[in-house]
Amino acid sequence: MSVVGPDQLAAGFSLTPDQLDLQQRALAVGRELREDGAEWDRVDLAPYRQVCERMREAGLLGITMPTEYGGRGETALDYVVAVSSLIRTAQTWIAPEPLFCTTGPGVSMILLGDEPVRRKYLPEIVAGHLGCAIALTEPNHGSDLTYLETTAHRDGDHYVINGSKSYITGSGVNELYATFVRFDDIPGGRGVGALVVEADTPGFTTTKGPEFIGDRGIPHGDLHFDDVRVPAENLIVGAGQFARLMSAFNMERLHNASLCLGLAEAAYDEAATFVQNRQSFGRDIIEFQSVYHSLAEMWVKIEAQRLLAYRAGASAEGGRFPQAHDVTVAKLHGSKIMTEVTMASLELHGGYGVTTDYPIQRIHRDAITSVVAGGAPAVLKNSIAAMLFPDRRFPQTKG
Ligand SMILES: Cc1cc2nc3c(=O)[nH]c(=O)nc-3n(C[C@H](O)[C@H](O)[C@H](O)COP(=O)(O)OP(=O)(O)OC[C@H]3O[C@@H](n4cnc5c(N)ncnc54)[C@H](O)[C@@H]3O)c2cc1C
Repeated sequence: MSVVGPDQLAAGFSLTPDQLDLQQRALAVGRELREDGAEWDRVDLAPYRQVCERMREAGLLGITMPTEYGGRGETALDYVVAVSSLIRTAQTWIAPEPLFCTTGPGVSMILLGDEPVRRKYLPEIVAGHLGCAIALTEPNHGSDLTYLETTAHRDGDHYVINGSKSYITGSGVNELYATFVRFDDIPGGRGVGALVVEADTPGFTTTKGPEFIGDRGIPHGDLHFDDVRVPAENLIVGAGQFARLMSAFNMERLHNASLCLGLAEAAYDEAATFVQNRQSFGRDIIEFQSVYHSLAEMWVKIEAQRLLAYRAGASAEGGRFPQAHDVTVAKLHGSKIMTEVTMASLELHGGYGVTTDYPIQRIHRDAITSVVAGGAPAVLKNSIAAMLFPDRRFPQTKG
């Protein structure tokens, strides 16, 4: 029986011996979590702290964070390799979530802050003692981030925050929230900046939010800010630096692109095993040419995604964050092929595909659930077209 193995994953892109070692470690840790992941999905509850501890032991936290804050000082490409490999074998998005909370956009944004906020939080986050979620989306605003309504006003040596956020992954689980706010009621993107909010600050509460069909186990819930006072030193960036903030946000899209790769690979692995074991009309179904071709089509899509995700990771070399063009292309392509590949694999499973006896239904649910996270496809297309035709941008705002 032939299923393409982990040793062949790097085909078409030359990884260093250290990166190959990282890949093997991540694949091995992911395998350990596979059975638990099915249960976390079923009961919609995961022991996040335990998973975080396992990732710390495996040396997978704070991958791109500078060594001066306890990080590993590795590259964004290492991050792509680790995240995609973990989810490929774990088949649960929760496996790489501690990497997201210790290397992803929230903690990357803190790197944009002044030294006091970095020193205060980064070592504890990178060590896995504090988790950092990212909070942009609001009940009335998602794609239209520049319209956000959560406000921050300076009061002496504090900022006072009012408003609410929704769909925040890790709400109620994480200790810190890198929160996008509008400073001093300044309209548009010019007024948007960010602050770190600690979960035990008076006036800050979380609620669980709606039940999700995929990406289950950790809440994607709501945050409420009722005159929440945070010290002025918790400022990440103030008004007028929206573009800088979004450069750190590119780590979110890099994470999404890596998840897309790993989930598509997981779906391929399941299909490859199933079609070599299931018989129909007296033969293994892999011997039907349409099935054979379906696997080849999945594989080509995965290979293209691997190259785009690796390129997006490599685009950060020499700089701190990956390039907007490369991460946006990789996330858009990844969302599309992840949905197609997981659906194709589910179809190849026949009726078994929609039973909970096989993991493909969960892999597909997780895939469609994560399509809009970090940016809806239509919004990513707007960004890409605007980069291609900078003098033909059209206003997104009404009037
Ligand atoms: C699993 C999951 C996890 C998430 N985790 C987080 C998190 O941790 N932190 C956080 O802040 N947010 C999080 N989100 C929220 C996510 O970022 C938003 O759902 C996303 O940005 C889209 O916003 P929206 O849902 O408000 O959709 P809307 O902005 O209402 O858009 C709905 C649809 O309208 C269309 N549309 C909107 N604007 C345009 C436009 N300008 N041009 C063309 N079409 C357009 C698109 O088709 C879009 O899909 C998460 C979401 C999911 C599903």
